[in-house]
Amino acid sequence: MMKTPSDYYLLPADLPFNRASLKNNFQLKSPDQDPGGDGVWLPLQGMNLLTVSTPQGPELAEGDSPLQTTTFPPLYIGQWRNRPCRLLHIPEDMKLPPQLHRQPLRAAKPDISIALLSLAGMGQMILHWEDNSQLCSTCGKKMTRLKGEWGKECQHCNASHYPRVHPCVIGLVIKGDEILLARKPEWTDGRYSLVAGFVEFGECLEETMARETVEETNIQIKNIRYIGSQSWPFPSQLMCGFVADYAGGEIKLNDQELADAKWCKLDQLPTLPPKRSIARWLIDRAEKFIS
Ligand SMILES: [Zn+2]
Repeated sequence: MMKTPSDYYLLPADLPFNRASLKNNFQLKSPDQDPGGDGVWLPLQGMNLLTVSTPQGPELAEGDSPLQTTTFPPLYIGQWRNRPCRLLHIPEDMKLPPQLHRQPLRAAKPDISIALLSLAGMGQMILHWEDNSQLCSTCGKKMTRLKGEWGKECQHCNASHYPRVHPCVIGLVIKGDEILLARKPEWTDGRYSLVAGFVEFGECLEETMARETVEETNIQIKNIRYIGSQSWPFPSQLMCGFVADYAGGEIKLNDQELADAKWCKLDQLPTLPPKRSIARWLIDRAEKFIS
């Protein structure tokens, strides 16, 4: 049977970047568990994964390192299809040999498998942590990795630091047969998505959803219900998806964050985020949430 677009990802857990998308292809380990020997390479350059062409499509390079970098030594991150997988951080201005191809991680329709895209996303999160955990945030001295973990310890003040994932909310707000869509000034013309924002001190997720909606659009909401979540490695967020009903207010752009917000009927939707995002997953199922 042909897959209809809304069948791509049955549940939010199936969305790219969630670990479930790696299926049984990958087991995350820590760098000190590197078994040695040949394996595969996960080279990341900016927001791109670098792959080689194979008859089966783009895959990870094998054998000798496809690129030499001096700034970031290869970092073992786990087993990809039972082989050691090592991450490479490639400087943005480095010229690539002809056998390597850039695969943009934020492409609307990526050319790589969902498993590979999700692995590269995890690599992005790891790079973000590595970049931000060189020095102790308590005393500023150098940190070393804890045995068997991704966490690090400061040799000077003994503080331990662990990878940080930032919780965010994103939500579909329903009013009759319309949904609330919002647009940020930096997005391409005509593209809209859902209200979203970072959790603040002391908030539960539902409170963040209500606050962000009022702050950004002046709309009050009720019946805020959690639907599912998506790991979002740009650079290290967890997007928690909600649906809510309109409770009151007229649209007014209260802060500087949005260029526009509007109510849209489901048969008159503007350009939307790609299918691989939880925002689009919620929008594509809006009809099911309208009571
Ligand atoms: Zn310290």
